[in-house]
Amino acid sequence: MKENETSGHEMPSRRSFLRKVGIGVGAVSLAGVTGSSLLKGNDNSGKSGKIVKLLSPEGKLVEVDAADIKPAKEIVAELKDEARKGLANRKFGMVIDLAKCKNARKCVEACQEGHKLPKDHEWMKLYLLQDDRTTAKYWFPRPCFHCDKPMCVSVCPVGATFKRADGIVLVDNQRCIGCKFCMTGCPYSARVFNWKDPEVDVPKDYPYDPETNIPATEGTVGKCVFCADNLRHNKLPRCVSACPMGVIYFGDLLEDTITNGEETLRFSKVMIDRAGFRYREELGTLPSVYYLPPTSRTFPVETGLDESEEIIKARYKKAGPR
Ligand code: SF4
Repeated sequence: MKENETSGHEMPSRRSFLRKVGIGVGAVSLAGVTGSSLLKGNDNSGKSGKIVKLLSPEGKLVEVDAADIKPAKEIVAELKDEARKGLANRKFGMVIDLAKCKNARKCVEACQEGHKLPKDHEWMKLYLLQDDRTTAKYWFPRPCFHCDKPMCVSVCPVGATFKRADGIVLVDNQRCIGCKFCMTGCPYSARVFNWKDPEVDVPKDYPYDPETNIPATEGTVGKCVFCADNLRHNKLPRCVSACPMGVIYFGDLLEDTITNGEETLRFSKVMIDRAGFRYREELGTLPSVYYLPPTSRTFPVETGLDESEEIIKARYKKAGPR
């Protein structure tokens, strides 16, 4: 899964959105016109007999029975159904190499740009940690951990947040009632509350998709989505592609393979060779994000703050890199 794009996210065109649900025409969808249903050409029950010509996702003119056409709003429902199911036979995971992180913040920027987040909304957080005053400080990128036993999901009273078969935990902002139980339940503070509609440029009729959480809505909760929309197109998450240090690896753990876009590693081997661990394993949440310890660093920890904006420098004033 090689990804050459660095950051940013083009808003999907109407055509690519429709492709996502397997439909290629603007205002209508073809109910049940899948490969298999086309093969069942002899079953005429429920047909109107009125034939309509439509453009297929491949740009071919096709003929369908008028009874197979349903309104576009149901396409959005299909989109949300797909977002709830996830990708079959996948189990996504992330590995973050703490020895390489220099607080370049490109992961944060790419995430914010790709998800149309305001500057003060960080789904990916960078913390400056020090385990003991006798030990060295290090930068700690923290996305959502997409836990296999997610406390956020178990406390949501309306099923707005959910875990998919491929391991990704998402939030449906159209179902979220803003109770913040999930924020309280998450032991890693991975969730942010949308106190207002974000002031970002989103087309008015942009179809809401839990895989991107665009557009976010006032009074709902957001968080890292592992760039589920990119994964659907075999692309790496934006933070992975944007990191100039190759800190973040991502992959399908069922395939036992992870990559940062440049280097591809065997997940199980790197975990053993580099003593990989999960943050606060004792909580039993089983995160899908793993860390490699910040040992054998090749640059001093203060690198990365010098060129940062004053507002970001101020955040670390107290902790202050040495
Ligand atoms: Fe839920 Fe927090 Fe785990 Fe993410 S890190 S899945 S928000 S409990």
